[in-house]
Parts: sequence; C-alpha cells; structure tokens
Amino acid sequence: MTSQTTVKTLLILGASGDLTGRLLLPGLARLVARDRATGLQLVGAGSDPWTPDQWLERVESAFADANSQADAAGKRELKRISETTSYRELDVTADGQLAALLGQLEAPVAVYFALPPHISQEACAVLTAAELPAGTRLVMEKPFGSSEESARHLNQTLGALVPEDHIHRVDHFLGKATVLNILGLRFANTFLEPVWNRNHIEKVEIIFDEDLALEGRARYYDGAGALRDMIQSHLLQIMALLAMEAPATLDERDLRDAVAVALRASSIKAPYAKNSRRARYTAGTLDGRKVPDYAKEKGVDESRNTETLAEVQVDIDNWRWQGVPFILRSGKALGGTRKEAVVTFRPVPHLPKGFTGVDSPNQLRIGFGPDTLQFDVDVNGPGNVLSLDRATLTAELSASDLLPYGEVLEGVLMGDPLLSVRADTAEDCWRILDPVIKAWNRDSVPLEEYAAGTAGPEGWPA
Ligand code: NDP
Repeated sequence: MTSQTTVKTLLILGASGDLTGRLLLPGLARLVARDRATGLQLVGAGSDPWTPDQWLERVESAFADANSQADAAGKRELKRISETTSYRELDVTADGQLAALLGQLEAPVAVYFALPPHISQEACAVLTAAELPAGTRLVMEKPFGSSEESARHLNQTLGALVPEDHIHRVDHFLGKATVLNILGLRFANTFLEPVWNRNHIEKVEIIFDEDLALEGRARYYDGAGALRDMIQSHLLQIMALLAMEAPATLDERDLRDAVAVALRASSIKAPYAKNSRRARYTAGTLDGRKVPDYAKEKGVDESRNTETLAEVQVDIDNWRWQGVPFILRSGKALGGTRKEAVVTFRPVPHLPKGFTGVDSPNQLRIGFGPDTLQFDVDVNGPGNVLSLDRATLTAELSASDLLPYGEVLEGVLMGDPLLSVRADTAEDCWRILDPVIKAWNRDSVPLEEYAAGTAGPEGWPA
C-alpha cells in the first residue's frame, strides 16, 4: 500500500552537511523505496554556491542503495524525486531569506534543520509565524539546547512559530519498533505488571556502550561528551518507557504524557561524586586497530575535559519506583558493543534447603538494535535435579524495515509527532542532568581514565 505524505515539500537546510549525506537522504530513500512516502518534493539548501548537478549527484548517490532494492513503484518515485529536486543557496540567518524561500515552495513544508545548533537557533529567531506557510513543520536535531534554561528559550522561539505538534525534536535512536517493543512487552503481559515495581525489582540498568572511538567527529562530540550526547537525549527516554504507567492508547498525547510524568518524578541526587561517574579513553587497541589518546585526537581541546564514558544513577520518586536505582551508562571506545536495558529482580526470600548450585536473581534483558528479549531464570539440572543452573529464554523482537532516519522522516512527513521529544520533556531531561553538569564543571567528580578497548576504568562494573 502506498502512503501519500501529509507534507508536500521537504526542505533540508544544511544540504552539504554530514547528517544530510550520510543519514537523512539514505533514510528518505528507503522510506520512498518501500512505497511509504509518495508525492513529495525535495529541496536542499545551504550557504555554498552549489550547482544543480552537484546537489543531484549527492541525492542520487545517497539513493543508489535503496533504488537497487526498490520495487517498480519505489524506483519510479525515487526517479521522480531526483528529476524534480532542486538546490537553493541561502544564508538561513539573514533576515527574510529563509522566509522568502518558504513562500515559493508547495505547502505544507517540513523544514529540517540539519545545521549546527547555534545556526538553527538563529534561523528560527529571524522567522515570524506570519511568514510560515500553513501547516509548516519544524524538525530540530540534537542537541536541543544545552541546559534547561536554553532549551526553554528555544522552545519559546519555536512555540511562537508553529503549534507544538508541528515541532519534531529528533531522537533518532528511539525508533518506533523499539518504543512499541518495550510497550508491548510491558503492557501485553499480565504476569509482568504485578512485579514491575520496587517490591520485586532491585535495579534497572540502561547501557549504550560502543566499540567505536571518535571517528573524526571531534567538532560535534568534543563539545558534547557522553552525558549530553547519549544520556540526556536518549537513555532518559528509554528509562521513561520502562518506568511509565500504562497509557490508555498509543496516541502521541497519551504516550508522551506518560513519558513526561515519569521524567518529572526523576532526578539525580547529591552527592554527585557517588551518583555520577565520568571517564575519558587513553590510547589503546580496538579490534586490532591502534586508537590514539582521546585528548590527542584531531580537533579535541584537552582542557574541555570532555568525557567519553558517563554513568549516572537516576531516582524516580514515586510510589512504584521509590528506592530503585536506574543506572544509565554510555561510552565510546569500549571493549565491546553493548546496547541493552537490564532489569534485575530481587532474590527469592527463601530458597528451600536441599537445593545446590547458585540461585542468582532473575534478569530481564531488552537488547536494542537488533531488538531482542532475554530472560534469565534458574532451572534444575542438567544432571543433578537438585542442582540449580541458569537458563536464558530468548526472543527476537520486531525489527523495522526502515533506517533510523527513515522512521524519523516518516513521522515528520505523515504529521505524526509520536517519536518526537515534546517541549516539556526536552526541558526536563536537562533539568535532571544540569546539577551533574555543574558538579563536573566544578571538578567535584574526578575524570577517570580507561585504555581504549577495555571495559572501562578499574572498579567500574563490566
Ligand atoms: P555539518 O557541519 O557537516 O553540516 C552543517 C551544514 O550547515 C552544512 O551543510 C553548512 O553548509 C550548513 N550551514 C552552516 N551555516 C549555514 C548558514 N548560515 N546558512 C545555511 N547553511 C548553513 O554538520 P552535521 O551535518 O554533522 O550536523 C548537523 C546537525 O545534526 C547538528 O545539529 C548535529 O548535532 C546533528 N546531528 C548530526 C549527526 C551526524 O552524524 N552528523 C548525528 C545526529 C545529530 P555550508 O558548508 O554550505 O555552510
């Protein structure tokens, strides 16, 4: 079934940038190739004087992979987009230029700000609501602000331009399949809900460890670090999905309300030297490849003390979760990739005397990308029926046939803000982390070190 988009024109600002070439255009191509977005006009814009051919070459090379796998209808649609796409040169921060371009495009238009964050903010600040064609959608990349106050300020600027449900704050790690997989597991199984609380759960860990190092992204990453790059924008969202109350429907309002309620109850408490940790990688080996010291990487300013590994303990102060630590950790250049949420249940109150072997607490593991489920249980045997042994029940969860940015764009083009981070939530995620950022800026928490390719600093759990 083909899907006509609600949006008529996708305007990508930052057409020459890395995000556009590497992620946005391939994500769009897969979406179109699967017949899930038809009738769209694509316009690229940037401050460089690109020729139409330069832009077309970029679009066609980004479309090539999806085109080779598309059916006849998908190929036709990709061809139509290539034949009609255009490039416009403009300075988005100059008064009137962006507004004038918007006036020439077929409405409704989705404006994708694939720009450095400060440029996106300046571009929005020079726009007025009256200049925007009816139905305009604004798509903002991360990082969304740099503190609760700056996020609020940016929200006010955007809120003066379009209604909240026309603003898409992107968290491309939070795919639709992942969100629905968590909700399906939690709310379609009666046996889980009675134990999903402080009485039966000891702790919840949400871990996003990568074996990738900086990979030439110092310009963005050195100003962000692990805490802002992953925990602020992404892991708190996953935490909220694991912790929230059951929504009545999967509509954006019900779901985003439930996420917001969970986050409003969340905080990281002092002392921050106990409830947060940070570290930076030194030279090491990853997959047989030598990795230089982070501080010596091209484009890194050592004096910024940017962390490449961050961990925080979040408390959710409500009836369900009082006293249960939510440990959020993300890092780069680690010995292995590990992307999962681990729910550890409390030990049994009494193990009948006579059993031997180890009785370990049950653990439920939700893996992300590919999405999987693993449940660790103790069973008898094999061999001696009195001896307890660990068995893992596993299941593969639903996967998306879109690329992460295809999912983002599908929401934007179809006018569905379900996956977008809502204004209050964007501010709240900064409110949760602001005290930790301040403590780190005061050097109240030591910046530890770990060799690239290891499991992290000594003393941190693997
Ligand atoms: P780049 O620096 O690669 O690209 C930025 C783009 O902005 C360039 O095309 C540049 O065009 C354009 N630009 C800058 N100033 C102006 C201006 N005044 N008017 C018009 N265009 C302008 O950045 P990225 O693509 O890496 O990142 C873009 C955004 O996406 C950032 O917010 C980033 O945080 C976010 N992001 C990036 C990811 C990535 O993997 N790259 C992943 C997740 C988020 P020109 O060269 O012509 O000036």
